[in-house]
Amino acid sequence: MNKLLIIGNWKCNPITLQEAKKLFNLVKRGIRNIENVETVICPPFPYLSIVNCQMSNVKLGAQDCFWEEKGAFTGEASPSMLKNLGCQYVILGHSERRRYFNETDEMINKKIKTALIAKLKPIFCIGETQKQRDKGESSNILKSQLEKGILGISKKGMKNVTIAYEPVWAIGTGKPCDINTAQTMGLLIRKIITRIFGYSISKKLPILYGGSLNSKNAASYIFEANFQGLLVGGASLNPQEFSKIVKEVSRD
Ligand code: PEP
Repeated sequence: MNKLLIIGNWKCNPITLQEAKKLFNLVKRGIRNIENVETVICPPFPYLSIVNCQMSNVKLGAQDCFWEEKGAFTGEASPSMLKNLGCQYVILGHSERRRYFNETDEMINKKIKTALIAKLKPIFCIGETQKQRDKGESSNILKSQLEKGILGISKKGMKNVTIAYEPVWAIGTGKPCDINTAQTMGLLIRKIITRIFGYSISKKLPILYGGSLNSKNAASYIFEANFQGLLVGGASLNPQEFSKIVKEVSRD
């Protein structure tokens, strides 16, 4: 069985390098004795080469990448560049990228494929908005985002993909998804993956939950709703709280 996976997404924070280093070191220290959880920090691009993950219990991830390796694409960072900086993971398809940067399922699909070629592990985010939920469209949206995002990915590639269920209405709102609904959505994701790739791939696929997590609610998503990890936004900027989340889920 793989280790539980806890990802901290710093988003566009903090403002100074000094703060970034401090935050990273506090997390490193806070979880220093925990061995049964894979903890990943995803800082903004400018800090990737500076936060030192070598010989550390904390792994490095990026918050996005481009779908080409190099060339005239102003402002973009390629998967190989990130890999060469020590990243092992990359978050792709986050709802904030879909919303503010108009990322489509097709763009995300290209990013996942290029990330896999560069040997980065994609954390592929899917989830419905409040409006879609109110219209009863949650399952269809999840199915559509999932099928389009992984279109054309081989079974071998799929072994390195992680899926994060992140209902958009739960992100940064303080209103986490209730455990039963989250579990149902997790099961739906696994069912779709079984249909496309077969049971042997699907049973090993890590599925994460993300949305308004904190140290009080985190463990229930693992031990009650059967997720294999968590994607943490806001709380990952508080090193004590983030370390506490990692500790809570490390209890067996
Ligand atoms: C996120 O942005 O992926 C997220 C889960 O944010 P928060 O934990 O702040 O809801």
